[in-house]
Amino acid sequence: MRDWDIWYQKYLEQELGGLWIRPSAVYPLIKKLENRLPVQVLGLSEENRPIYNINIGDGPIQILMWSQMHGDESTATKSIFDLLHFLLDTENALAQQILKACTIHIIPMLNPDGSERYTRENALGIDLNRDAVNLATKEAQVLHTQLKELKPDFAFNLHDQTSYYSVSGSDKVASMSFLSPASDSDKSLTKSRVEAMKVIVVMKEVLEAYMPGHIGRYNDTYCKNCFGDYVQSQEIPTILIESGHIKGDNEREFIRKYHFLALVSALENISKQELPDPDKYFTIPLNKKNYYDLKIKDVFFEKSLENMGVRLENVLENGKIVKKIVKEDIILGKALKKMLFHSEINVKKIDFETFLKKFLIYYS
Ligand SMILES: [Zn+2]
Repeated sequence: MRDWDIWYQKYLEQELGGLWIRPSAVYPLIKKLENRLPVQVLGLSEENRPIYNINIGDGPIQILMWSQMHGDESTATKSIFDLLHFLLDTENALAQQILKACTIHIIPMLNPDGSERYTRENALGIDLNRDAVNLATKEAQVLHTQLKELKPDFAFNLHDQTSYYSVSGSDKVASMSFLSPASDSDKSLTKSRVEAMKVIVVMKEVLEAYMPGHIGRYNDTYCKNCFGDYVQSQEIPTILIESGHIKGDNEREFIRKYHFLALVSALENISKQELPDPDKYFTIPLNKKNYYDLKIKDVFFEKSLENMGVRLENVLENGKIVKKIVKEDIILGKALKKMLFHSEINVKKIDFETFLKKFLIYYS
C-alpha cells in the first residue's frame, strides 16, 4: 500500500480549511494557478461572480469534475486543490502518468453565490442539482454548455452528505457514498452507467482499508432534473461522490483526505485503462437515513418529559457557522427505538429552551 499520509501532507492546500469555503478563498488560489495552467472563465453566476475552469494534463481521456454545485458542500473543493498540487508535482511518476493519459477539466466552485452565503441553493434560491433540464439558472447553463462542448469520457459530480445516513446492515455512519446515477426510469445498465460503476469499485476498494464498513451506495431512483442522471443519460459515465461524516471530523478535514485518495485512485485506474469488474458495485451496501446527531434524554419539551432525537444542520449566523436543529426531523418517545445516534446526553429534566441556550444550538 502507498504511504498516503506522507503523500497527502505534501499536497494539502493549507489556505483552505473548515466548512465555509467562499469565493474569496478560492479565487486567489485559481489566480496563482494561472501561471502554470490554462484557466478560463466559463460564465458568470446570477450575481456576476466568475465560474472558473482549470485544465490540467494533455492526454486523450477527457475528464470533467465540478464541486460546490451546492454552496454549503465544500469538502470536494478542498480535495480538488490538494489534487491539483499532486498533479503539478513533476517528480511524481503517478501524477505524470495521469496527465499523459488524461486531460482533466475542473470547475472548483460551480455555485459561487451559494458558497458566499453558505447555502445549498444559488442566489435565486434554486437548487442547481434540480435544474439540469429547466436550465433556469446561469450556473446550470454554464455546466450544461461545458458538458455539451467537452463530451467528457468521465464526469465527477462532487458533493457532501449529511451525518444522517448509515450503511445498511450495520450501525456505521456512511462516511463516503457513491452513486452511478440511473439514465432512465428503468435504471437500465447502460454502457456509461457500467463504466461509472467500475470507477466506483476502484475507489471503494481503496477506501475500504481506511474506513472499513463506512462506505455506502446511494439509491439509484431516476431523477430527471438532477445533473448526475441527466449527464448519465447523455452517455457520459457519471460518478457521484458524497463526502460524509466521520466521528470527530466537524470541519470535514479527515474526509477531505479520503476524498483526495478516492480521486487519485480513480484517475490512476482510468489512466491505465485498468477498470475492474462492475458487479462488485452492487455489493456496496445501500445508505439508510436513520442517524440522528443527538439523543437528548429527560428533557421537558412542550410540557412533557421526553426522550428526543434531533438532527443538526450547519447554518450561517452572523458570519459564523452554527448548529441548528432541523425542526421537521425531531423524533420523540418510541420513534427513537429503531434509530441510531451519534451522541447522547441526559439533561436531567431541564426544559428544551434552557438546553438550547446552554449548548448554543439554534432552533427557529
Ligand atoms: Zn449536494
